[in-house]
Amino acid sequence: MTDIIRMTAAELAAKLTEGEISSVEATQAHLDRIAAVDGDVNAYLHVNDAAVETARGIDERRASGEELPPLAGVPLAIKDVLVTTDMPSTSGSKILEGFMSPYDATVVARARAAGLVPLGKTNMDEFAMGSSTEHSAYGPTRNPWDLDRIPGGSGGGSAAAVAAFEAPLALGSDTGGSIRQPAHVTGTVGIKPTYGAVSRYGSIALASSLDQVGPVTRTVFDAGLLQDIIAGHDVHDATSIDREWPSMARAAIEGAAGEGLKGLKIGVVKELPDSGFQPGVADSFHQSLAKLEAQGAEIVEISAPHFEYAVAAYYLILPAEASSNLAKFDSVRFGMRVEVPGGTVEDVMSATRDAGFGPEVKRRIILGTYALSAGYYDAYYGSAQKVRTLIQRDFASAFADVDVIATPTAPTTAFKLGEKIDDPLAMYLNDLTTIPANLAGVPGISVPSGLSADDGLPVGVQFLAPAHEDARLYRVGAALEHLLVDDWGGPLLDRAPALNGGAR
Ligand code: GLN
Repeated sequence: MTDIIRMTAAELAAKLTEGEISSVEATQAHLDRIAAVDGDVNAYLHVNDAAVETARGIDERRASGEELPPLAGVPLAIKDVLVTTDMPSTSGSKILEGFMSPYDATVVARARAAGLVPLGKTNMDEFAMGSSTEHSAYGPTRNPWDLDRIPGGSGGGSAAAVAAFEAPLALGSDTGGSIRQPAHVTGTVGIKPTYGAVSRYGSIALASSLDQVGPVTRTVFDAGLLQDIIAGHDVHDATSIDREWPSMARAAIEGAAGEGLKGLKIGVVKELPDSGFQPGVADSFHQSLAKLEAQGAEIVEISAPHFEYAVAAYYLILPAEASSNLAKFDSVRFGMRVEVPGGTVEDVMSATRDAGFGPEVKRRIILGTYALSAGYYDAYYGSAQKVRTLIQRDFASAFADVDVIATPTAPTTAFKLGEKIDDPLAMYLNDLTTIPANLAGVPGISVPSGLSADDGLPVGVQFLAPAHEDARLYRVGAALEHLLVDDWGGPLLDRAPALNGGAR
């Protein structure tokens, strides 16, 4: 039998249903893997000591003849931005060290109801600010492909856990690329659903108009299975979309069977020329497009003239919203409190926020409060919102001509730890291709497209679709995955030297 930890969630689920393995075995195998490699990878901030107990409960229900949901008994890693009642939720920050939530995030509640077994909470940049997981207050996560490199961010922990076989599935959150960019640099699949498709209730807010929770997996089909569980209307989230969604898992099956490729119009953005990407990234992108073209897709050049302003607009809108969302960490209501003998309430708040927040969080609070201040509001925040509208119009006019848009997911492969940490602007520019989707609320997927010829590291291709058309992404993503995995003779992760044959 294939090693349990190497099975996809769908394969595991099938073995569980057939009774070939138990959830306790599946869960224990992942806990063993975590014990063996996580000292190096640091994907987890907290490992669930009740995981085996939960798994046993699922096994008992199955043994008693109960009909269980499709992924029941499959272990799941959860980004620490999502609150959980039985494990601490820190969002990667010191200010929330040890914080226990009185309720579960809706996505966590839905995952539990579907019988998924929480393995633990994954590492992330503090409050999801970053592209490398180096801004975590609990030390960086390392890329399982090369431990000297970043796993992407902010959800580097979820992506690294899935890539290193420390979890078959994970939940992430994506405000400007934090699911898709880590997927790109770790050879995994990441999806940011349509804004409002998945509840944000219990997702510790970074920027409320941009945040979206979504799946991090090894296959497009697994992501579809997970999105089918977590998506859908939630009365606790005022921006949650009230509609029935088609099955994303079904869309992935159709895509893998080659349905929908003939005549599919794929837009390539003329304002994102190859010169903006590492050569190996651009090459991999073009090879992917050629594959799809050979199956009957049509590649069409489109123009999105305002994409080049997306990073600038995002880094005004995001800090503005974040500075307001983070105001609640006031030393009174949540988490840490630094006592100041003889000090005023303000002294305590200020000492707590000074000690509790890391440098990137402080930088963004300063940026955000400045952008929102009287006298500057129109010049900065107001202008950024106008640019946001222009980007939404770019998408609308592009989607009048094409079904999906394709871009490389990020400009480069995984960079070295420490390489960009002292250069915020270089870090921000990483999100060039992922940010437009958040500003417009449209869904995006990153699917592994191969290894870069320049450095042998994984590369992802991103597809974007109109809002509500997530299923289209699953179809095209699964189609490409199917074609590429055939070429590779197996999953991309099988080709990572560091991942095969042990801890490194
Ligand atoms: N890297 C981006 C940022 O630093 C995106 C983060 C995210 O998606 N949470 O804001």
